[in-house]
Amino acid sequence: MAKKTEEVLVKDVKVTYYCDKCGEVAPYLYRCNICKKEICKECQFKGGYSEMTDWRCEPETDYPDRYCKLCWELGKPYREKYRQLKGEHEQELSDVIDQWRGASKT
Ligand SMILES: [Zn+2]
Ligand SMILES: [Zn+2]
Repeated sequence: MAKKTEEVLVKDVKVTYYCDKCGEVAPYLYRCNICKKEICKECQFKGGYSEMTDWRCEPETDYPDRYCKLCWELGKPYREKYRQLKGEHEQELSDVIDQWRGASKT
């Protein structure tokens, strides 16, 4: 078998991630489901796994929605409203999320 050997230089690209909230370097970032900022582990809402999924009554997933602390705190009345409407007003539910998103734009 004919064989040709060549030395190839591979250019490696190093990517550094910075948290949108604290500006620290992070190995990976989460995207806040409300303000869409990319946040580090420290800046995300540190609730139980189910707290992030249960309020929307969705089955637990390997990729739960993430929230920054600010949006999570801000979202309490919106989550309550969401739970209340769930089942009755399925159509209007996405509007509530949009309102929450609107309130978060600081
Ligand atoms: Zn951070
Ligand atoms: Zn947020």
